[in-house]
Amino acid sequence: MRVILLGPPGAGKGTQAATLAEKENIPHISTGDILRQHVAEATSLGQQAKSYMEAGDLVPDDLILAMIRDRLTQEDTKQRGWILDGFPRNVDQASFLEQLLWEIEQPFDYAVNLEVPDETLVTRLLQRGRDDDTETTIRRRLQVYREQTAPVIDFYRQRDRLQSVNGDRSMAEVTAALQGTLQENPSTAGK
Ligand code: AMP
Repeated sequence: MRVILLGPPGAGKGTQAATLAEKENIPHISTGDILRQHVAEATSLGQQAKSYMEAGDLVPDDLILAMIRDRLTQEDTKQRGWILDGFPRNVDQASFLEQLLWEIEQPFDYAVNLEVPDETLVTRLLQRGRDDDTETTIRRRLQVYREQTAPVIDFYRQRDRLQSVNGDRSMAEVTAALQGTLQENPSTAGK
């Protein structure tokens, strides 16, 4: 199974992706997690990415694209698939991913959009308390989401590969809904 999980910051992508990855026994690929690890280890990539992450801005594509190519060509992703969380974050990244998946012959099954209203997002992000979850950064991340990431939803809708799941429910209910969606036949996606 190869799944792209979309949704605004605070929609629960990370939690749901981790749960699904465990249930399906596939790698959970979170660009945010990979970047945080680089920052923690103070690698060259981490040092370059840090200020963008602290500001709630997107890390430049040239850094992200090399990182995702590297991750998606590792051995574990060839076996049972993967679940992508936090990538693609803009239409250029979505185009790059389309080309990359074609090249490495790994077509994805679905892009699933977790839909959550703004009020819920802010409450959830403030409760989460990650380093980059201050009120200013949260506001910036939501703005970046609306301007740069939301158009990615249309990218997949146009390709008839988009599914939507109501993410404004308990964690278990969202997991069940996601699993239900993923068990449907891919040929019915977006209908
Ligand atoms: P996340 O854990 O997905 O909320 O990501 C945390 C931060 O990492 C974001 O606010 C961005 O600064 C950066 N980031 C994660 N994924 C990407 C991406 N695909 N493109 C650019 N920046 C990203």
